[in-house]
Order: sequence, then structure tokens, then C-alpha cells
Amino acid sequence: MTRFIFITGGVVSSLGKGLASAALGALLQARGFKVRLRKLDPYINVDPGTMSPYQHGEVYVTDDGAETDLDLGHYERFTGVSSRQSDNVTTGRIYSDVIARERRGDYLGATIQVIPHITEAIKEFVVSDLTDEDFALCEIGGTVGDIEGLPFLEAIRQLGNDLGRAKCMYLHLTLLPYIPTAGELKTKPTQHSVKELLSVGIQPDVLLCRAERDIPDGERRKIAQFCNVRQDAVIPALDVASIYQVPIAYHEQGLDREVCRYFDIDAPAPNLSRWKSIMDRVTKPEGEVSIAVVGKYTGLLDAYKSLSEALTHGGIANNVKINLNWIDSEIFESEDTVHLLDGVHGILVPGGFGERGVEGKIAAATFARERKVPYFGICLGMQMAVVEAARNLAGIKGAGSSEFGQCQNPIVGLLTEWERDGIIEKRSEDDGMGGTMRLGAFDAVVQKKSRIQDIYEGAEVISERHRHRYEVNLAYEDDLVAKGMMFSAKSPDGVLPEIVEIPEHPWFIGVQFHPELKSRPFEPHPLFTSFIGAAVEQSRLV
Ligand code: GLN
Repeated sequence: MTRFIFITGGVVSSLGKGLASAALGALLQARGFKVRLRKLDPYINVDPGTMSPYQHGEVYVTDDGAETDLDLGHYERFTGVSSRQSDNVTTGRIYSDVIARERRGDYLGATIQVIPHITEAIKEFVVSDLTDEDFALCEIGGTVGDIEGLPFLEAIRQLGNDLGRAKCMYLHLTLLPYIPTAGELKTKPTQHSVKELLSVGIQPDVLLCRAERDIPDGERRKIAQFCNVRQDAVIPALDVASIYQVPIAYHEQGLDREVCRYFDIDAPAPNLSRWKSIMDRVTKPEGEVSIAVVGKYTGLLDAYKSLSEALTHGGIANNVKINLNWIDSEIFESEDTVHLLDGVHGILVPGGFGERGVEGKIAAATFARERKVPYFGICLGMQMAVVEAARNLAGIKGAGSSEFGQCQNPIVGLLTEWERDGIIEKRSEDDGMGGTMRLGAFDAVVQKKSRIQDIYEGAEVISERHRHRYEVNLAYEDDLVAKGMMFSAKSPDGVLPEIVEIPEHPWFIGVQFHPELKSRPFEPHPLFTSFIGAAVEQSRLV
């Protein structure tokens, strides 16, 4: 029997609902339950794939090729459960499905309305694709009171009725702001936010209250009384130094105890030993390395969420703290700024779209290659490293990428055809932008005796997640190989390059996929473990 926990947020956005959901998922898992986490996003885009990372942060890609909200990354990292297409839905997708059904005639004769048609579609989504899960945690994006969120709140309210309250719990995350002049944490915004929830018929069962300092008992009592929640179910969620501390902190405050109590489950205490050992490593590193991330969306770190987490995991694996130096690649487009990279122990050029800043990324790759600093190129970062090698090692004039317009030698070109599970997928230049990239997990065959094969511990075939439209053009392979670059993994049909490396360099690797999406604190991705290991070596030299 699957029980549902609906997680809403109030007072302000950015309270960390995704992390709170992920942490609760991890705690229930640590008590031996099977969990699944889902996100319902009220915005009208069909998925976040067409949104700027500045609007929405990173687009998280699942194995089955869905472009999803970055909270799914938290879910995967905290629970180790791979997310699926069926774990994220938006208003846009719900409406487009309902409208497609209407056009097919599925509702013949009816007037299509938000209630019941849209709410029914949301409810169908919430209960779909579940098998033997003990808990499905469904986070509702946005903040209570948003107009777009109303159909979602109505749907989860109805589910409480349809499935019975014994199978549904409502958890509401709020903020208690601290007012220094009064020297107090204020409960009024929480009271108002619960009122707002009550106005749509939802009585929260547990309140998780974010606060920067201890919540006095008197304030907890007040919240309990005004919000009609038992005092034990008003759980303080105090700020912590590392996100990996959150499950332990919430457990200590009784969050999972309250959930078990609500559902009347007598579960064993959670085994949190692996969370404790992660915390030890995060809080007591033996050294530190500095890594420069040369990218485009450095103004909003959520744009690189999985990347910075994967680097942290690489640090955990090597027992070092990572000092991240975010650098806007455009800075390197004026020549005298490469000294900003002096003394860094590793350079990472992440994925990205569009022409702005690419010459700076190429300059960073030149610096890393020539000065023998570890270089990790991911997706666009790999493509630009190959363009760099084509220009400066192989002397190919006008080497570039057709993503940025016509060029004399398109080292990187539009990908129009690829195979997945025996089926050929085709794209053309005129296709729309939404959901049309090479998306999701694909196998790659690893070259024997390459550094990559060592990193992947001898694996012959690997599977990694993709999200890109362009691809390195194998027509230039021979020229590049002659100058010391190795194409060390390709798609099984040999048509698409997946990994390049420079064997003569201490650590120079470019990958066409996004390894950061599969890195987890308990299983750091081998590429990040190895890259940070190389940075540790580098730190001994400089
Ligand atoms: N813009 C490049 C492409 O579409 C790289 C994409 C990426 O870095 N994710 O191929």
C-alpha cells in the first residue's frame, strides 16, 4: 500500500522544499521503507527544458530522457532512487494532455473545466506508475497563494478524500523570520500561510518551520494552537552548514517520528550511519583544492546545482574540501585575464548553450592544456576543448561549431540522427526547441587501455545521461589523433564520439554527456573522484 505525503510551501519561495522532501525521503528509506519522490510544477511550460537557467536553475535530465526540475536531482542524490519521466509534471503538460484528449473526442459532449478535468488529470498523474512503494512524496512547486498552484492544491485535497486520510498526509514548510529589533522569531506569516491552505480545504498535519535560530517552546505552542496542529508536529528546521546535515537534523527534531505516528506505523529507528560518515568527511577534510568553473550562468549557482554537488562528492571521495571559483568565461575574452587561472588545481568547463562566452571557454582550455592543469570539459566544455585542439594543435583554420553559425571547419556539427534501443531518432534544423535534443541515458563503448577505462574500473560499456543538440564531427578524428588527442569512448555504432582525452597530459578529459547528474554522495561519480584526485596531485606541485 502506497501512502502519500504532500509537501507544500508557504511564506516565501526558496525555503528548500525540494531538500526537505529529499531529506524526509532519505529518513523514511533509512527506516526500511521504499520511497518515490515527485514534483508537481504549476508553471505553464510543458517542461523546464526551454527555460533559461537564470529563470529556473539547472534542467535535470533523467535516464528515460525527461527534462525536469532540479529538485529531482536532490531526490536522486538523497535517496539513490533514479527519477523517471513520471516523477515531474507541469501545468503545461497536464493541459496539453487534456487538450489532446479533448481533440481526440475522449470527452465527447462535455464542457472541459479546471474542475474536474484538469484536477482529474493531476490526480491520475499522482497515483500513476507506482508499484510496491511504501511512500510517494509529492512536492507542489511554488508557494501557497500562487494562482497557478490552485488546481494542484484542489487535486491533492480531493486525493485526501478519495484515498482516505489514513493514506494521505499534508506537510507544510514555512518560515519564521527573526526580527532583530524585537529579538523574536515571528509566527504570524506561518499562521497566515496555514490560513491560506485552510481556505482551499487543506489542514496541514505537520509543519516544518525554517528558522535561523532555536524556536522557543512558547512559539511552538502558539503555532500549534493557531494552526490546529499538535505541538509535537511543529518541527523546527534550523539552518545547517551543509545540505548533507539536513536528514540528521530533521530526524533529531522528530520529523520522521511524526510521519510514522501520523500513519500509525511502528517502524524501527532509522539507520543513519552512512549520513553520519558523510558528515564526518564533509566537516573534517584533510586538505583543500581550488577548482575554477569557467561557465556562462555563474550569476546563479542553482544553474550548476548537480555540478557543484558532484564536485563536493569528488571532494568527499578524496577527503578534501573543494574551493569553487566561479568565473564567467567572457572575462577571458580580453587577453590579459588568464592569470585568474594561475594557481588553480583544476579547471572545469561545464555544459551550456549559445555563443556568448565560448571564446573564453576555448581560452581556458588552451591554458589548461598548455600549462598541464587538470581539465574537465562537460558537453559544451568538451566540444570547445576539441575546437581548441583543432585550432591550436592541428592547425585547422576556421575551426568552430555550427551552433554559432556557419564556419569554415565545423568541428562540432548538428546531430541529426542517432540510435536508441534499436530505433533511429531523427531531427532537422527546422525542428522546434522543446524536448528535441539527444536526451537521457545512452551507452558508450570505452576504448581499451585508455585513462577512461581505468577511471571506470575496467568497464567496457558505460551508460551516461545526455542533453545536447550538437556533436563532435568524426571527420576530424584522424587530424586530432595525429596531434595527441584520443577518442576514448564512442556510441556503440561508432558514429558519435562520447569522450576525448589527451594521454600525454596529466588529466585532460572531455565528455559529451553529463556525469554530474548521476553522482551521489554515497557513490561519487568516478570521473569526479578522478578529477579531484588529479587536482590534489596538482596542488602538491604548485
Ligand atoms: N550547446 C551544445 C549542444 O547543444 C552543448 C549542450 C550542453 O552543454 N548541454 O550540443
